[in-house]
Amino acid sequence: MNIASEFAKAINKQLSGLVLEHREILALLAAGPKEQQELFALADAVRKRYVGDAVHLRGIIEFSNYCCRQCHYCGLRSANKDVKRYRLGEEDILLAVRRAVKVGLKTVVLQSGEDRFYSLEQLVRIVRLIKQSTGMAVTLSLGERSYSDYERLREAGADRYLLKQETSDEGLFVRLRPKTTLAGRVQCLKWLKELGFEIGSGNMVGLPGQSTGTLARDLELMRELDVDMAGIGPFIAHPQTPLAGMPGGTLDMTLKTLAVARLLMPEVNLPSTTALETLYPGGRKLALQCGANVVMPNITPVSCRRHYSIYPNKAGIKDEPEECLDSVKKLIAELGRVVGTDRGDRNKK
Ligand code: SF4
Repeated sequence: MNIASEFAKAINKQLSGLVLEHREILALLAAGPKEQQELFALADAVRKRYVGDAVHLRGIIEFSNYCCRQCHYCGLRSANKDVKRYRLGEEDILLAVRRAVKVGLKTVVLQSGEDRFYSLEQLVRIVRLIKQSTGMAVTLSLGERSYSDYERLREAGADRYLLKQETSDEGLFVRLRPKTTLAGRVQCLKWLKELGFEIGSGNMVGLPGQSTGTLARDLELMRELDVDMAGIGPFIAHPQTPLAGMPGGTLDMTLKTLAVARLLMPEVNLPSTTALETLYPGGRKLALQCGANVVMPNITPVSCRRHYSIYPNKAGIKDEPEECLDSVKKLIAELGRVVGTDRGDRNKK
């Protein structure tokens, strides 16, 4: 394939407002260093046109690092006995939420491993309390659950749910996520959508065994599911997992995937991930210039944060929420952008 000419054809098709197909998505992902700059500039222009200059901040509380799963890429897998496990009680979760309100955040994300310690009743109560006392948008990221669980959480007032597909390659999915299937995960995303949640999916760039074709299909699956948010970050090998020592995703490929996501799904919310900042200090800023419009500051109590080690050496694990917010706000101002003043729901046109 002549990369430059296929790339130019795909860009022209995008500019004509036509739907990009697999071959064109591949051509964009294959962009060389010269074309890449054009891709990033176009993604930035599309971001500005469809979602504006606001950067929405979502405060993330990682309230439990217990997990019953064995994902090969994740430091929280239950077989990892070297991780110090913690769970926050209701009071501590609510304390972190109040802190988020105090610093002006409009969305709180409650995330955990797949931990059945918390009863459904308890989760429902926490969601209700947050909604009643703060009115914040509540995003949940609790893994795969039953339709009726999702229904109860939605009725309690939860607004959004994050459940990354991770990869669209069924074989790779089964190898990396034993005892789960891609079809099961996609089914959960469809249920969540049907129940009226805003749904967030996403993938990891650079997973061992992944090809550029896989990445293109990842994006096509997100488009097909009509996701409201797409979290795209690099794979970073964790030393206490079966993938220890494997090469990780690169900065360039992660930024290209993010930029193509913006072209394929112009209105969705795209976070600039902490994983990218971890891989490459300054990566968060680059992502905001390639289509991203969301940042998720970590507001987990600092004493727990370093134990939520999905991947190693996570950026910003020592910053108090206020410091973390200050540096993000500074970055947003440097880029000539503004902090979103509303909840930052997907702006469907
Ligand atoms: S990726 Fe999620 S489900 Fe898998 S082990 Fe890690 S926390 Fe658990």
